[in-house]
Amino acid sequence: MPIVYDAAYNMTAGGLERLHPFDGRKFGRIVDMLGIQDRVVKPMALPWAFLEATHSAAYLNSLHSSSSIARILELPLCCVPAWLLRRLVVEKMRLHYSGTVQAAWLAMEHGWAVNMGGGFHHASRDAGHGFCMFNDLSAATWSLLEGISVGGEGRRAADRVMIIDLDAHQGDGHEEDLKDEVEAGRVHIVDAYDPTIFPGRTDLRPWIGTPLRYSDSDDGRKFLRSLRRSLPHALDSFRPNIVLYNAGTDPLEGDPVSGLQQTADCILERDAFVWSECRARGIPICMTLSGGYQRHTADVVAASLRNILGL
Ligand SMILES: [Zn+2]
Repeated sequence: MPIVYDAAYNMTAGGLERLHPFDGRKFGRIVDMLGIQDRVVKPMALPWAFLEATHSAAYLNSLHSSSSIARILELPLCCVPAWLLRRLVVEKMRLHYSGTVQAAWLAMEHGWAVNMGGGFHHASRDAGHGFCMFNDLSAATWSLLEGISVGGEGRRAADRVMIIDLDAHQGDGHEEDLKDEVEAGRVHIVDAYDPTIFPGRTDLRPWIGTPLRYSDSDDGRKFLRSLRRSLPHALDSFRPNIVLYNAGTDPLEGDPVSGLQQTADCILERDAFVWSECRARGIPICMTLSGGYQRHTADVVAASLRNILGL
């Protein structure tokens, strides 16, 4: 089953979960709820040479400093030794990042794949912020377009990649990273976000081919209508070889980071619509989990995956 997951995805060590409004065990809890522990594909951590192809040397070097890591995580961790933070967080994020690249290649082969994590859409080639260290969506895009594969055999897999980013926040990292590809017609970005919250990068909006808006006065019905109006047209006119679907669940009502009010039913309907529109057109889809910061987020993601995968 092309679902990529490793128990090391879970971020629990060192009491980190008490410092951030984040369920660090959400990845494992979803896998447990679905009962697929024995059927997942384990990711292999991509070598630093691969990271160096997607992030600058200066940025990667900065990840040897506690204060740099603490700033990206937005946590007061400056006193924790860098070697410990690398073990507790950096290496885990590297594994999530690797999992998305691997899942993208699996989706090309099987028609679909899910990375049970990833979606670090605020990181870019030269910087990390917003709890995002390595941009797995940019990396998967480059990997498919340039033929930098997990095994390194150099086979180009796609001419056109679409990113559908429905996390509550703007995907500023891949928008910064993929400007040239957007201009060359090799990437099309569909991004739904609340423009009144982080990161507020108005300068990057020209690279969003299909912008959609989340609003805190909407229970999700209004958003679904705009998604139903826009997405089929975007898919039919761009004709991607693959869709990377960043299925953040932070638009869910009660989320302390986004402040949005969407119902769980609307999130399930949203995922099912994106999934079925891609599948009906024979377009491979690779899904990442991205944001979603409440204790019951895992239940909603598990219900959605059960729904779209027929588990
Ligand atoms: Zn988010």
